[in-house]
Amino acid sequence: MYSIILHGGASFKKKKEVLISLKKALEAGIEILSNKGKAIDAVIESVKIMEKEEIFNAGRGSILRNDGSIKLDAACMTSDLKVGAVAGIEGFLHPSEIARCVMERTSHVILVGKEAEKFAEMHGFKKENLYVPERLKLWEKVIRKPKEEIEKIRKDIMETVGCVAMDEDGVLAACTSTGGLFFSLSSRVGDTPLIGCGTYANSFGAASATGVGEDIIRITMARYCIFMIEQGKSAQEAAEMAVKELDEKTGSSGGIVCVDKEYNIGFAKNTDFMPVAYYLSKNDKMEVLP
Ligand code: ASP
Repeated sequence: MYSIILHGGASFKKKKEVLISLKKALEAGIEILSNKGKAIDAVIESVKIMEKEEIFNAGRGSILRNDGSIKLDAACMTSDLKVGAVAGIEGFLHPSEIARCVMERTSHVILVGKEAEKFAEMHGFKKENLYVPERLKLWEKVIRKPKEEIEKIRKDIMETVGCVAMDEDGVLAACTSTGGLFFSLSSRVGDTPLIGCGTYANSFGAASATGVGEDIIRITMARYCIFMIEQGKSAQEAAEMAVKELDEKTGSSGGIVCVDKEYNIGFAKNTDFMPVAYYLSKNDKMEVLP
């Protein structure tokens, strides 16, 4: 038995092509899990597919910061509390894989900035150009716009990607990858690479969150979700409670996907859209939803 669920960010704007990419990413995860592969391999592979697409705010297609730079954050974690993350790195298509490398090759949890880039290069990752015309044009368009207008645009492009899964061996894994918030300070780090905030896994469940990182951090949203599962809630109840907590405590927007140790999945949002794709082998159920 295995389960997998992934998201393409909690946005206010719908993009049709997202669902096609999400399905492709889901199928890549299923391919691994159905061949008795590991949850960590499945979540990284699914996230890598989304990082490669231009339509998500992760890897290629990441949004620009206020100074025109692209800064990437990513994290991964498994149910045995193994964890790795990178923050504020530039020019790598697959920060998710670098996060995994931190997890497997170091005794540390998070590596940041230029030194993290050196670490990645030392381990064979190559830099590349991640700028796509649409994101660049948007940045050029807003440079002289008032702050309020930029914040409105920002809400439309919370297109962070994340995936959680449980494999045949009962191991859970989570992975989240992002370019952060549009037009934020370039040194800003969001929730995605912070363990328990945007990404979390333990023996009870795994979760990946999306939304305004500052507010997700304030309530340690992913850990909150899994803690609810620990307290006996179902995965779906836990996801809903995490979004409610975000809403009530911060008034902010976001969403979360999770899987529990019984192979059940949950997802919730308080934004207009959060594309989600999942597959549950126990009842052979697949859905791709906006
Ligand atoms: N949570 C991400 C961040 O604040 C943004 C997103 O979900 O799209 O960096």
